[in-house]
Amino acid sequence: MTYFDMPDQGGQLYQPSREEVVEQIVSELPGWQEIIHELHRHLLYLSPNYDLFFASSRHGGLRFYANYVPRDDETIESARVAHQIFARLIDETELRSLHHCTRCGERGSLRDDKVVLCEGHS
Ligand SMILES: [Zn+2]
Repeated sequence: MTYFDMPDQGGQLYQPSREEVVEQIVSELPGWQEIIHELHRHLLYLSPNYDLFFASSRHGGLRFYANYVPRDDETIESARVAHQIFARLIDETELRSLHHCTRCGERGSLRDDKVVLCEGHS
């Protein structure tokens, strides 16, 4: 699909679905497949309707740009705690990803402050 084939979104750029964002980042960084899918599963558990706008590698670590969306039947207190856990999961996954090769998932380290690679892939 080229830019010009993208569906018209009222003048906005096409926003891929949450699942498309997940699959896109997995295809770019296959070594993080497990980490990415686990984070997605955990965020879904906390917030089944959560929004995921974009995912990328930021300063070498995995970054999910996501919004917590409370459940309809959720109390304010429960939503407050769930929102905190949601944000914490994203932050901790970013730190965890810094120890896994983006190509194969094996133990790796940050190279040139840009990309995490194992011995075999650096
Ligand atoms: Zn590797």
